[in-house]
Amino acid sequence: MADYDYDYDVVIIGAGPGGLAAAYGLASSQHVLVVENNLWGGTCPNFGCDPKKMLYGVVEAQRQVRNYQDSGLTGHPSVNWADMMAFKRSYTDGVPGGTEQGLAGANIDHIHGTATFRDAHTLAVGDRVVTTDKVVVATGAHANIPDIPGKELLSTSTDFLALPDRPQSIGFIGAGYVAVELANIAAEAGVAVHVFQHNRRLLRAFPEEYSDRVAEQLRAKGVQWHWDTEIASVRSGADGGVVAVTAHGEEVALDYLVAAAGRGANIEKLNLEAAGVEYSGVAFR
Ligand SMILES: Cc1cc2nc3c(=O)[nH]c(=O)nc-3n(C[C@H](O)[C@H](O)[C@H](O)COP(=O)(O)OP(=O)(O)OC[C@H]3O[C@@H](n4cnc5c(N)ncnc54)[C@H](O)[C@@H]3O)c2cc1C
Repeated sequence: MADYDYDYDVVIIGAGPGGLAAAYGLASSQHVLVVENNLWGGTCPNFGCDPKKMLYGVVEAQRQVRNYQDSGLTGHPSVNWADMMAFKRSYTDGVPGGTEQGLAGANIDHIHGTATFRDAHTLAVGDRVVTTDKVVVATGAHANIPDIPGKELLSTSTDFLALPDRPQSIGFIGAGYVAVELANIAAEAGVAVHVFQHNRRLLRAFPEEYSDRVAEQLRAKGVQWHWDTEIASVRSGADGGVVAVTAHGEEVALDYLVAAAGRGANIEKLNLEAAGVEYSGVAFR
């Protein structure tokens, strides 16, 4: 317990998996406040792991049925994109409310708003000012948007996971796990997929022998790999689409171009300087 009379022992900034684990772990012994400025539950259940897995479940079921066509299964299923998205929403729509109910049920104080440090023990959340002995920063990450002309035309994985209708074509900048998994879902759903990667390596955290096999499997599903290719700019295309212009001068018309070249820490609104916290412009892929 703090010697000084703070409003809280611990303020947790961010109600994603990290912040919530800290909140539930600490709540029995500490007076805790959780602050969230977007959807309760954070990235994983709202815009990340879980919605992705629901879409993947649908396209994987389709693939499995196709694989067993000569083994007792008949009929060719096909993905209805709008229905697949409704299926996803049947889960994700309930996440923020369910998460908030969980916090309320556990008597954990929580407020909606953006937390900003005033000093190491004082935070502003909208009009409210709270003091605290300790702070857990669990603010997660956002997609890195490359600083290129037309960057405002780029989409993110969050946009992809909420596309109401099936696009004809889609491109991904980057070949990390977010791009690879979403490219697979799109390709299985019949979308023409392009991946633009600045070198020749996908999934660099994994052994090349395996990532090369993933590249080959996706190529067999129709994914077009543009290796050693930087996107130099983006401009508006026909029918609300975009045109990706590569550094080689090649132009590829797409319905959407998704920035998936790594993610950067959500620290820009925290005013970490006021708390005396040092940081670097960390980006991870
Ligand atoms: C498309 C995609 C697919 C993924 N798939 C997987 C997967 O299959 N398996 C896996 O393990 N991981 C996956 N991840 C990663 C996973 O989502 C993250 O690792 C996880 O959500 C991180 O949890 P977190 O609590 O650290 O951050 P987050 O879940 O991002 O939560 C942080 C929260 O803090 C809030 N916040 C930020 N700044 C402030 C502020 N100043 N004030 C108040 N609130 C603030 C944000 O709104 C956010 O809700 C995926 C991510 C993406 C994008």
